[in-house]
Amino acid sequence: MPTKYITVTGGVLSGLGKGIAAASIGHLLSSKLKIIPIKCDGYLNVDPGTMNPFEHGEVFVLDDGGEVDMDFGHYERFLGVTCKSQWNLTMGKVFDRVRKKERRGDYLGKTVQYIPHVTDLIKDHIFQVAREERPDMVIIEIGGTVGDIENELFLEAVRQMREDVGKQNIIYIHLTYVPIPHGVNEQKSKPTQQSVNLLKQRGIFPDIIIGRCKAFLTPEIKTKISNFCDVDPSAVITGLDVQDIYEIPIIFEQEGLPENIHKKLNIYSPPDLRRWKKLVDNIRNPHQEITVAMCGKYTKLEDSYASIVESFNHCSAHLSCKINLRWVETTDLKDASLLESIDGLVVPGGFGARGTEGKIEAIRLAREQNIPFLGLCLGLQLAVIEFARNVCGLRGANSTEMDPDTPHPVIDILPEQRAVTEKGGTMRLGAYPAILQEGSVVHALYGASKVSERHRHRYEVNPEYHPVLQEKGLCFSGLSPDGKLVEFIELPQLKFFVATQAHPELKSRMETPAPLFYGFVKACLY
Ligand code: GLN
Repeated sequence: MPTKYITVTGGVLSGLGKGIAAASIGHLLSSKLKIIPIKCDGYLNVDPGTMNPFEHGEVFVLDDGGEVDMDFGHYERFLGVTCKSQWNLTMGKVFDRVRKKERRGDYLGKTVQYIPHVTDLIKDHIFQVAREERPDMVIIEIGGTVGDIENELFLEAVRQMREDVGKQNIIYIHLTYVPIPHGVNEQKSKPTQQSVNLLKQRGIFPDIIIGRCKAFLTPEIKTKISNFCDVDPSAVITGLDVQDIYEIPIIFEQEGLPENIHKKLNIYSPPDLRRWKKLVDNIRNPHQEITVAMCGKYTKLEDSYASIVESFNHCSAHLSCKINLRWVETTDLKDASLLESIDGLVVPGGFGARGTEGKIEAIRLAREQNIPFLGLCLGLQLAVIEFARNVCGLRGANSTEMDPDTPHPVIDILPEQRAVTEKGGTMRLGAYPAILQEGSVVHALYGASKVSERHRHRYEVNPEYHPVLQEKGLCFSGLSPDGKLVEFIELPQLKFFVATQAHPELKSRMETPAPLFYGFVKACLY
C-alpha cells in the first residue's frame, strides 16, 4: 500500500487546536496503521529552542535531542510514537538548506526561486521522512492560519503533492471556527466559507472541514457549510470545545471522522477507544481532589508548562483524582501565604535568575513542613541550593547561572558547556540514561535500575560539593552511568521530596503516567 497523506490546515483564528485535532485524527487511525506526524512551522528560527516560552509555549524535547514545537507533545501522547526532530520542518531549516545548496552549486546556472526550489525542498523532505520511516500514513500539520504570509510555501508544497502522490492518496482537512455570536444564538458559517475560499484560491479543496464550536454543529449548519464549501455534509465535523483535550478523539469518532477518512483514502483502521474512554471518564468524574502549587516564572501562560499539565492529567486518569494546579508567580512570593493549604509543591524547569529566590523559599517551606515536593530540572538545582544554604550552612550558595560570584557554586556549568558560544541547540539535550539506587523512592517508582529521561540544561550539581551534600543527608538516588552527574535526588526521611535534572513530564502518556508524577500525586493524596 502506498503511504497515505493527510494535511491539516487551519483557518479564521489561531489557537483553535490544530495540533490536538491532528493528534486526535492520528489516534483514531492508529489501531492498524503506522502513523507519523510532520509539522511545518513558518517562522525563520531553525527551531523553537531559542524562543521565549511566552512567545511560543513549551519547547518540547525529543529523545534525539531535537527541540521542537509543543504540538509534538500532543503527537507523542496521542499517537504513542517517539518522534524525531526531522519531523518538525521550520522555514528556518528550509532556508538554511536552500542557502547551503545554492552556495554548493546545486542549482548552478539557475535562478533560485520559491517555486520550484523551495517547494521542492519541502516536498523532498516530507518524502525523505516517509522513505526512511515507511509509515502507512503521514499527517502533515501546517502551522499558522491560511492567509498568513509565513505558511504560503508550505501550502503550495502540499497542494503540489496531490499530483506527486495521486489524489487517492492524500486528503486535506481544514479546521475552522463556527461562532455563535451573543444575541444571535445561531451557529454562523461565514468565517468558515471565507477561510475555505482562501484555501481554494491556493488550489487546495478541503475534503473534510472541522468546525470548532462551543456546541455540536447542527444538521442545518453542516448542510450550509457543505453547500458553500463543496464537501459532503457528513464530512463537516464538529470540533467541540471540551474541558479536556483527551475528549477530542471521542467526539471525532462520534461525528464520523474515521469513516470519512477510510472512505476517502481507501484504508480501514477501526478505532478502539475503550480504555481511552475509561481514563477520560476518570478525569471527568474524580473521586478525590488535591491542590498543587506550581512555582514558575511563566505562570501566566499554561502553554509554557503544557507537558507538566498533561502529566497531571494522566495521573488524574489513573488515580481518579482532580488536581487543581495553583500557579504561583514566585517573583511575587513575599510571604508563605501563597503556599497555604496546598497538598504538594512543584518547581518546574526554567532559566535565569528572576523568581529563583522565591522558589528556593517555597522549597524550604516544603522541606520543613514535610509537604510533598517534586523538582524538575531547575527544580532540582534550586532544591540543592536550598539544602546547601539551610542544611549544610553554606551561606550564599547558588548556581553560577544566577550569581556568577557566589562563594559556593553548588550548581555550576557542565564542563562541555564552557566552550559553547552559540545558543541554538547547544544545551545538554535529549535522552540520557541514569542508574537508580536500589531501595530509593525513584527506584521503586520506576521499578527499574536503569532509566532514560529527556534533558534540556547547561548546569549541573557541582561535583566538588557532592561529599558535603551527601554527608548532610541528601540522597543522590540516580546518577549518570559514569557516576559523575546527579540525575535524581531525594530526602528519604520525608513523605516525598524528589527532584530530577531531567524532564520526565516529556514522556508521560495517558496510558503510562510519568512515574515521578504518579508517586508525587499519591503522596499528596495520602
Ligand atoms: N537553567 C538551568 C540549566 O540550564 C535549568 C534548565 C531547565 O530547567 N530546563 O541548567
